[in-house]
Amino acid sequence: MSTFKLGIVGYPLGHSLSPLIHSIFLDQAGLTGAYERFPVEPDGFESWIHEVAGTLQGFNVTIPYKIRIQSHLKSLSEEAQCIGAVNTVCVQEGVFHGHNTDAKGFLAPLSQLRTPLKESDALILGAGGASRAVAYALIQANCKALCFAVRNLERARPTVEMFQREDLHCHTAAQINLVQLEDMVQEDLNRFSLLINTTPVGMSPDSVASPLPTSLLAGLPEEALVYDLIYNPRETRLLREARSLGYRTQEGLPMLIHQAAQSFYLWTGQAPSAEALQAALSACSAHLQTDSL
Ligand code: NAP
Repeated sequence: MSTFKLGIVGYPLGHSLSPLIHSIFLDQAGLTGAYERFPVEPDGFESWIHEVAGTLQGFNVTIPYKIRIQSHLKSLSEEAQCIGAVNTVCVQEGVFHGHNTDAKGFLAPLSQLRTPLKESDALILGAGGASRAVAYALIQANCKALCFAVRNLERARPTVEMFQREDLHCHTAAQINLVQLEDMVQEDLNRFSLLINTTPVGMSPDSVASPLPTSLLAGLPEEALVYDLIYNPRETRLLREARSLGYRTQEGLPMLIHQAAQSFYLWTGQAPSAEALQAALSACSAHLQTDSL
């Protein structure tokens, strides 16, 4: 039986939950192996690629290497190309193939909730890396319109333009807009059945913050779902307020587990079982609680 050598490269890597998740997946699948942290400083990245990466079966890539890794790849999946970032690399006979599993990870909890996305209007707060995975996923699910609400229009424009370029597979018939968050009024929210926070606002330790004032949140239609990608804390202020206004909510931890499950499948050919997903969710949840004490 083969021994899987997996890992994550990034810098710094202090709070990554991936080693915990993948050790559970390996265990539950009855596979031998290990998932190691590789905190590699920017000066040492190319040496790590040449000396270490090729000895692994696969690895995750996180900040700041999600773009830099691309020059070392033999192939890039359509998802990774459209999202413009790689979070998973498969190593086959010393050659690297890049993927992005965030879009599938984002969609998995929504399909479990049986949330209809086709023809829906979605409001995305933020326009960074995670927002591109979210937008790609929503386009694949045939959303009718996507609106990015941001604090800085200039910095957000490349993300919006990426999805408007006709020469890419991610080009969409969906209407794509960009608005200044501070200019929005309550009535503007009325058409959105899905609100997704992709900013880090509300993340621990600044968990008293919310990316959206309650007065705006209250403008969503009553059937709306509010999804926060933040997983620490599990229930952010945005989600707490949305819940008290009667909206359905989705926290970010299941997305983290599902994107990891997709990576695991790419590396091992085995999809983690429902029990493995649940075990990883419980372990991460316990870990986050201990961390916040
Ligand atoms: P990123 O590339 O840095 O993008 C962050 C976005 O948020 C940018 O558009 C940024 O706008 C905006 N932003 C930052 N601070 C803001 C503020 N105070 N007010 C308004 N907008 C603000 O980060 P990312 O990789 O997309 O990650 C974003 C969040 O998603 C993080 O909390 C991360 O943990 C979470 N995430 C979760 C998962 C999961 O599996 N659950 C996966 C990926 C990411 P500017 O350009 O103006 O700075």
